[in-house]
Amino acid sequence: MSDHVRLIAPMLASPRCGAKIRSGGACRSPAVRGKKRCRMHGGAPGSGPPRGNRNARKHGLFTRDAIAERKQVQALLGEARKLLQEMK
Ligand SMILES: [Zn+2]
Repeated sequence: MSDHVRLIAPMLASPRCGAKIRSGGACRSPAVRGKKRCRMHGGAPGSGPPRGNRNARKHGLFTRDAIAERKQVQALLGEARKLLQEMK
């Protein structure tokens, strides 16, 4: 085996991008480490969706308990203000 083949064999064996290109076939550029696509086809750092589905996040802000609690706090504040007005 020639030196050249020995030196570039790992490079040729690296995972390839499988994105469809305009002329039909696959891209075949080296895929970004840990991803299935090259840097041109969605493998760039910072690209892709956020972890998990944040649109489906359940925060409990509108549960019956949370609404009732806010209502109680508002009522208490109202009474405190009324009391302060009466004390003047
Ligand atoms: Zn690609």
